[in-house]
Amino acid sequence: MAESKVKIVVVGGGSVGKSCVSLRFLQGKFVSEYDPTIEENYRKMMIIDGIPTMLEVIDTAGQDEYHGVRDKYLRTGEGFLVVYSITSRPSFVEMQSILEAIQFARNSKTIPAVIVGNKIDLLSERQIDKSEASEFASKHHIPFFEASAKTGENIVACFQEVIQVAQKYKQQEEDS
Ligand code: GDP
Ligand code: MG
Repeated sequence: MAESKVKIVVVGGGSVGKSCVSLRFLQGKFVSEYDPTIEENYRKMMIIDGIPTMLEVIDTAGQDEYHGVRDKYLRTGEGFLVVYSITSRPSFVEMQSILEAIQFARNSKTIPAVIVGNKIDLLSERQIDKSEASEFASKHHIPFFEASAKTGENIVACFQEVIQVAQKYKQQEEDS
């Protein structure tokens, strides 16, 4: 059987929960404290649409100091999980500029991304309405989820979607 692989890059502002979201998906648990300066590269074998697939997840960190590293991932990533926290408007604004940076690095308005509003368990601290984020996402034709690394809500759905989007874009590039 043919083997496949897919590289997903998790990006977003500081403390939005990139590491927690990645670890919730990869290890199925909430790791509440994770060194914010560590950039980690995970691999996991999965069966996707019946095909054994090596999933690579890059949990980015310290982006401001490491522009070179970030640029590399913006170009070589096959799918992007672009995370903000629903409790932080600055992180929502930063999410938008990261999307623009991906568009710029790939020289394309259409990009294989999924937007994730994390920390949906902290509803009382909400700063970004679901409707505002979903309007932004649909304007850019990017799938959007609200999720929680803490409760696990929608985390699998986010990854399933970004893997699907990444594979769709890869297929289109191979066909063109
Ligand atoms: P990163 O800098 O984007 O990698 O953020 P982390 O994954 O290290 O998370 C930053 C902080 O937010 C930590 O204190 C986490 O425990 C917390 N956190 C992450 N995800 C969630 C979530 O879904 N809900 C809540 N309540 N806290 C979260
Ligand atoms: Mg982190």
